[in-house]
Amino acid sequence: MMKAPPLNKLVPAHVLEFEPYIPSKPEDELMRLYGCSRLFRLNNNENPLGPPASAQAVIKRFPPPRASIYPSGDAYHLRRKLALHLGLHPDQFLVGNGANEVIGFVIKAFCQEGDNIITADKTFAVYEWVAKFSGCEARLIPLKDFAFDDEAILEAIDDRTKIVFLCNPNNPTGTYWSERRLRRFLDRINGRQIVVVDEAYFEFVEQADYPDGISMISQYPNLVIFRTFSKMYALAGLRIGYLTGTREVVDIIRRTCVVYSVNTLAQEAALVAMDDPEHIQNTRDMVRRGKALVTRELRRMGLDFVNGEGPFLMIQLPMSDTLAYRKLMAQGVMVRTMTGFRFPNYIRLTIARMEAMKVFVESLAKALPEERAWEGL
Ligand SMILES: *Cc1c(COP(=O)(O)O)cnc(C)c1O
Repeated sequence: MMKAPPLNKLVPAHVLEFEPYIPSKPEDELMRLYGCSRLFRLNNNENPLGPPASAQAVIKRFPPPRASIYPSGDAYHLRRKLALHLGLHPDQFLVGNGANEVIGFVIKAFCQEGDNIITADKTFAVYEWVAKFSGCEARLIPLKDFAFDDEAILEAIDDRTKIVFLCNPNNPTGTYWSERRLRRFLDRINGRQIVVVDEAYFEFVEQADYPDGISMISQYPNLVIFRTFSKMYALAGLRIGYLTGTREVVDIIRRTCVVYSVNTLAQEAALVAMDDPEHIQNTRDMVRRGKALVTRELRRMGLDFVNGEGPFLMIQLPMSDTLAYRKLMAQGVMVRTMTGFRFPNYIRLTIARMEAMKVFVESLAKALPEERAWEGL
């Protein structure tokens, strides 16, 4: 056998140091492992209502022989549709294999070793990860009152700062910046850095002062907005999301993007998913009802929680989140542990249908330490 490659020499230090993310096991494995016969997936902010009916019809009718044909390399029709919908030019969009993929496009386009990106310490972790394994520094600014801290972010900027990543509303805290606050921040950045606003949960927010980042691009040409079809439109399994900005900025980012990463079925389902206002209404209604039930029961149990925008809640537990995870799994309820998000002893719950919410509340009451369960009765 040949000698093993000298990995210490071949691999850059920032890759050697990076700890890979371990995804959770597939559902069948988990059910066997925890001995449960059904599983409520309340860990990934998936929409349990499924894709809009129009998208389901497209998926059902997809002719299997078309699987042999490469997809449109640049999501041609979808970009035209997005442009029409959002009042921009088709060349202002880059479609990726989930919004996750476009994070990499932006970092590769603007950052080299020694540069830094700025984001929060407790937010969607992929900005930090991609920056780190690309050899860039990720400056993580602590949240203030569970929200992005504009003053501290502005202070952390230096001449190697290329991108500021904001998550609006923030996953996992649900806090958001109002339009006024975002504008004031962008005015003070004054175009010096790229500002990414990740609007993965845009379609869930009904607050009047919540900004539509896409409508602000013409005034703030350093803005890049992310959206996804995974959350509201329930196409997470097909992997499709996009970014948008000015044509000049998007022309730069396009240089780092690998074409053909978005499959045909995803493109075609996304194309029709946008046309279904009833789906959005139904999902918002489900989230409103689910949050009402869960927050009422959490109060009754004396548990603190963080309830903001988006289809999720963060709950503080009087026990370790990993222990709570195992106890809930044994009852067929999967939540997200928050230690990895730097919120030890918190779990994040995805809001779903009533049945799932009731099962969650009952299972949580059983999982809590004894005294706590008594208090709740
Ligand atoms: C889910 C999520 C994404 C990624 O979505 P995909 O399109 O499925 O890759 C991006 N940002 C935030 C804040 C999310 O919660």
